[in-house]
Amino acid sequence: MPTVLAAATDSGTGPGPLLLLAILAATGYMIHCLIWPYRSCRYCEGGKHRSPSGRAWRYCHRCNGKGAQLRIGRRLWTYLKNTHDRNSRHR
Ligand SMILES: [Zn+2]
Repeated sequence: MPTVLAAATDSGTGPGPLLLLAILAATGYMIHCLIWPYRSCRYCEGGKHRSPSGRAWRYCHRCNGKGAQLRIGRRLWTYLKNTHDRNSRHR
């Protein structure tokens, strides 16, 4: 009888549900990054750096004047996709 009880509690606890939740969260984040791949650039306003007078400006070199930067999840996605493509091409 005690062995059955131990087996039942073992299957109930463990990292299973937590791992599933982490995978779900990661998947949701990746989908979010696929739909909205950009975030606003934190180094400039709309891709422009204004001079102290406010009448002159230059393009931001961090985002190439777009005012948008690729999010980390999207970069990771591109990296994974490239490695997968490279692997499948070699095989
Ligand atoms: Zn910028």
